[in-house]
Amino acid sequence: MENCIFCKIIKGEIPSAKVYEDDIVYAFLDITQVTPGHTLVIPKQHVQNIFEYDEDLAAEVFKRIPKIAKAIQTAFPECSGMNIIQNNGEVAYQSVFHSHFHLIPRYSQKDGFSMAFTDNSHQYTPEEFKHRAQIIQDTIQ
Ligand code: 5GP
Ligand code: ZN
Repeated sequence: MENCIFCKIIKGEIPSAKVYEDDIVYAFLDITQVTPGHTLVIPKQHVQNIFEYDEDLAAEVFKRIPKIAKAIQTAFPECSGMNIIQNNGEVAYQSVFHSHFHLIPRYSQKDGFSMAFTDNSHQYTPEEFKHRAQIIQDTIQ
């Protein structure tokens, strides 16, 4: 897609530090290097976010992620864990609107990456909790 920075990276119009490439995905170092080896895996097909994937594309893309994750871990022996993050929409901190998976190797809990989960469980009755699950279940196709 025109004016998409990641499509330009795939085409080689913008330089990148390539980690892996095949017919389906392109993987390269994220410029920010939140932790050493921080890698982005992107489908070559321009899809904006998770809501634009079909099952086949999702399967093809995610199928490739474990081998890239394992390679990062092997290349950086101090890596003892990894966060895999995929932001969808501005509200979810997506800033580049060509879908991508962040592979963020972890070295310690103070290595530069953090994430917060708020526990809101006390706000809901068991019935409300069940109802919430049910409305999602009812719309899955
Ligand atoms: P998002 O915030 O959309 O989840 O992540 C987009 C990521 O793309 C950011 O972590 C940012 O550092 C990375 N990024 C943006 N522009 C470039 C670029 O030109 N080259 C590389 N290697 N990474 C980029
Ligand atoms: Zn694109």
